[in-house]
Amino acid sequence: MSGDFSADVIIVGGGPSGVGAALELRRRGVARVIVLDREPDLGGATRHCSHSPFGMREFGRVYFGGAYGRRLTREAADLGVDVRTGHSVVSLGMDGVLTVANARGVETLSARRVMIATGARETPRSARLVPGDRPLGVMTTGTLQSYVAFYDQMPFRRPLIVGTELVSFSAVLTCLGRRVWPAAMIEAEPYARSRELYTWLPTAAGIPVLKGAELVDIRGSRRVEAASIRRNGRVSPIVCDGVLLTGRFTPEAALCRQSPLGVDPGSAGPAVDQDGRTANPVYFAAGNVLRGLDTGGWCFREGRAIGAAVAEDLARDGDAGAAVPVAFDDPVKLVVPGLLRRGGLAAPALRDFQLRVTRRVRGRLSLELDGKTVWSRDGAWMPERRILVPIPPDAARAEQVRFRLAEDA
Ligand SMILES: Cc1cc2nc3c(=O)[nH]c(=O)nc-3n(C[C@H](O)[C@H](O)[C@H](O)COP(=O)(O)OP(=O)(O)OC[C@H]3O[C@@H](n4cnc5c(N)ncnc54)[C@H](O)[C@@H]3O)c2cc1C
Repeated sequence: MSGDFSADVIIVGGGPSGVGAALELRRRGVARVIVLDREPDLGGATRHCSHSPFGMREFGRVYFGGAYGRRLTREAADLGVDVRTGHSVVSLGMDGVLTVANARGVETLSARRVMIATGARETPRSARLVPGDRPLGVMTTGTLQSYVAFYDQMPFRRPLIVGTELVSFSAVLTCLGRRVWPAAMIEAEPYARSRELYTWLPTAAGIPVLKGAELVDIRGSRRVEAASIRRNGRVSPIVCDGVLLTGRFTPEAALCRQSPLGVDPGSAGPAVDQDGRTANPVYFAAGNVLRGLDTGGWCFREGRAIGAAVAEDLARDGDAGAAVPVAFDDPVKLVVPGLLRRGGLAAPALRDFQLRVTRRVRGRLSLELDGKTVWSRDGAWMPERRILVPIPPDAARAEQVRFRLAEDA
């Protein structure tokens, strides 16, 4: 039953999480499901990843990024999802009313439920405040991979790679795949931000991995000619013809920020409860918009689980009730879900809290419900690593929910 609405559910974003949700909604008999994406094809950030692996757990085989996007497109067509690419959502209204721009102009669409699945993006130079000249050749991994995947162009021969997150090694793979040897890989922290193990890749290829090294200057009149790094208090130049600023993902949540939904100060994405529902019960969210980067497979499964919750929510159409925020302090950076609702579904979409920390830290992480510790663990916690804590069955009944991380002396 769609009534006066354009659809039962509109999903904003056709990456793995949005398509995962759309497929699940259709499998569960939700009649009218629209996926809107501003790009010409489905697949989201996977479209420009010219390497594997994608799809193993959801489709039982390994795809390269482009082929994975095509598989999502086929699945959506087979299940009758109404896919509208080239459609950019420009505002979210209170009651599931969306303003959408496309080649024909601006239109208004509405739905009984809306899911935000707009992904995340790397932090570009402007937001990192890197000093120096403004030559061509400074870009993020996503931009580099788009040049390669969509235009068959490699914009440099000897870039400097800044960062050691998982995506930074994806940048190394893209370079090596095109016989481009980066001048070096640098990391401001004294450790690799992803697993130390991954540094074997650049090391085996003869690319120096310099930890504790900070980018302090970029030089070049038209194109990049050199970059300066500070390491052990000394500034030294590195000759390079490009600078790849990798990682430091932030949710693509401008739509939420400018709408009544708002964003969570920790994750910078919309806060959701254990069913993926935001503070406004018409809106749900899933995938990287919730917290910055996770893998494609994780986002697909998360989208599917929250899609199932949306289907159930439509069927019961009851009041979800007020939400209790999940509190935490530094060095915890974010917690998803950041809300818990007493009136949530019997089987919640999210079984675990997902946490990230701001820096490498050792100590005891604990969860308190109404002042009582119900879970704790000692460990060494790394930034950019997913930390999972099971959501206790009675957590949604608590009036105060708090994570603490007590650092070892
Ligand atoms: C460079 C790079 C390399 C990666 N390598 C791997 C890898 O090797 N393996 C792996 O598992 N994962 C990898 N990932 C991560 C993987 O791509 C993401 O986890 C996954 O794509 C996230 O899915 P998502 O649906 O949450 O968001 P996205 O895939 O980012 O999709 C979001 C979609 O929303 C659309 N959108 C945004 N705003 C609007 C709007 N206002 N209106 C309409 N549409 C909008 C975008 O166009 C996009 O299609 C990589 C990511 C990057 C950036």
